[in-house]
Amino acid sequence: MDPKPGIETIHPYQGGKPIEEVQREFGIDDIIKLASNENPLGPSPLAKEAIKRAATEVNLYPDGNAYYFKNELAEHLAVSPDYLIFGNGSHDVLQIVGETYISPGDEVIYSESAFVVYMLVSKICGAKSVVTPRRNYAHDLDAMADAITDATKVIFIANPNNPTGTMITKDETERLMACVPDDVLVVFDEAYYEYVERPDYPQTLPYVEEGRNVIITRTFSKIYGLAGLRIGYGIAKPATIEMMNRVRQPFNCNLIAQAAGRAALNDADHVRRSLKLNAAGKAYLYEALEQLGLEYVETEGNFILVQLGRPGQEVADALMRKGVIVRPMAAYGFPDAVRATIGKSDENKRFITALQKVLN
Ligand SMILES: *Cc1c(COP(=O)(O)O)cnc(C)c1O
Repeated sequence: MDPKPGIETIHPYQGGKPIEEVQREFGIDDIIKLASNENPLGPSPLAKEAIKRAATEVNLYPDGNAYYFKNELAEHLAVSPDYLIFGNGSHDVLQIVGETYISPGDEVIYSESAFVVYMLVSKICGAKSVVTPRRNYAHDLDAMADAITDATKVIFIANPNNPTGTMITKDETERLMACVPDDVLVVFDEAYYEYVERPDYPQTLPYVEEGRNVIITRTFSKIYGLAGLRIGYGIAKPATIEMMNRVRQPFNCNLIAQAAGRAALNDADHVRRSLKLNAAGKAYLYEALEQLGLEYVETEGNFILVQLGRPGQEVADALMRKGVIVRPMAAYGFPDAVRATIGKSDENKRFITALQKVLN
């Protein structure tokens, strides 16, 4: 039996290789993973405690409305709880957006070299992907605005974008939002929101509060260090949330995830430490890469795209044999680049030392 149109053109998602797999394949013990933008400090100690406590209750279904978690997150964001929806990771929320709003034949706009999930959602929903060219390494919002037609249903914007680490500014965002018609949904994917330190980063919550057709997605996978538990959320006006609630699986935020997420929200210290570590790691990597004469893209996230002047896949393979896992980027249109997560100080040093050896 044939699948729905479009499904056969999807390639299964290629994640960062798990440490155990590299151990098995290469017989090395001391491996660092800088491949999936995970928090190198691990989860908050408060979250670890909450996980232990919650483990004794996993015979029970979770609260399908995540009452306490939602209320606490609402307070944290200073929005009303009916503006929030949880997902099994923010990937889930992005897919719920597609399942709720995108019909076959609709046009979905996203940028070249954007996070791959927009393409996946678009294809799964049978939409026509309208891919606008990137400008240097970043989304070109003017090109995205120009690409809007009567058939446009959704515009996906990653800010900052993965894998480039680029950010679109407040001015660019305002210019786009001034010309998006209200029947076009704009999704701001802000998975790295908490890492951004630039003052010209746009705050998109006011668009939601003004009743614009906007969904913001964020996650506990990155700075909160809970990628393995799969917790993301969306922020939108209540009418939108209500529609997406009809589509989502009722228990898409599991019992341990709810407990850990609540605890992580309470650990502002862990978030601060993570941010500080990232800023220091970024400064170190900028300098070390410059010394190696390598081009990199300035990043607002917890990862960095590095141009190597030779196939990224080869370099990534060679680094892996030295126990350093990074991601080759050919699939994103950067055949000569890798993306490395900014790790702890010793991990960054090991990455640079290994890279130097591999390139010589
Ligand atoms: C990591 C990432 C996500 C988050 O994925 P989760 O499903 O929440 O783990 C979303 N968008 C971008 C751009 C990302 O890099």
